[in-house]
Amino acid sequence: MTTLSEIYSLLREHFGPLTGPGAASPWWPIFGDDPPFEMLVGAVLVQQTRWETVEAATLRLMAAGLLSPPAMAGADPEALAALIRPAAFHAQKAPGLIAIARHIHARYGGSTALLLARPTTELRAELLALPRIGRETCDVAMLYGGGHPVFVVDEYTRRLLERVEVSLERPTPSRWRQPYEVVRQMIEAELSAAHHASLGLHPSSRILHPALYAELHAQINEACVRYCLTRPRCDGPPARRVYSRQAGRESYHGRAEGCPLRPICGYYAGRGKKELR
Ligand code: SF4
Repeated sequence: MTTLSEIYSLLREHFGPLTGPGAASPWWPIFGDDPPFEMLVGAVLVQQTRWETVEAATLRLMAAGLLSPPAMAGADPEALAALIRPAAFHAQKAPGLIAIARHIHARYGGSTALLLARPTTELRAELLALPRIGRETCDVAMLYGGGHPVFVVDEYTRRLLERVEVSLERPTPSRWRQPYEVVRQMIEAELSAAHHASLGLHPSSRILHPALYAELHAQINEACVRYCLTRPRCDGPPARRVYSRQAGRESYHGRAEGCPLRPICGYYAGRGKKELR
């Protein structure tokens, strides 16, 4: 069975580091002066929405002076919906964002950083009780906004891992189609074991790795927006994506190497095309 470590190594070698100090350009660009709140807003906006649309909406929110909890807490829902349009469910997301902003304003004096600094278990419960925040959105905010050691399981993750691992010998649906928490804990356990082994630590050591989780999730997302689309572009060329402020990302356009996971991908080897179509 292919390991997450192999996938991580191949992707990182291909794309280079995407998060953290070694990244050539910010995988998650921040426009305003309140990164945790902007990330929380972005995590809500990106539900069923392309990132380019989220970036444009974020810039409009910033121009309107609404990219802070106190300002957004007092926003008019219809005006906010117009600013975030055409993000999917903009009419529902607008009052949801206002309710989130009011919560942060009332409970944490407008500091999203204070909210995200809560202990992981308590924070997850608090975020999940807010409108428009499901498990994936919650974990995006916790990992990227607060540095909590939680792996984000999104559709990209499920699709890519399912395709790489697909095999005629294994029944479908694959293990990557199990409920969110099952998949998250499976990934965290495998990454943790691999990381402990590489460091010579005992597998039972409970050292968690937010930076590793953030990087692997970013790498998987990059692979899925470039190659592993609904109709995969295994041999390339990669899909062109134009982001507003990710200098250097356009340099990827025109590259022709093809998906770096082809050597280990069951789907590419033709072992599972029938099941996944
Ligand atoms: S080789 Fe093709 S199917 Fe496999 S991960 Fe890459 S793009 Fe997806």
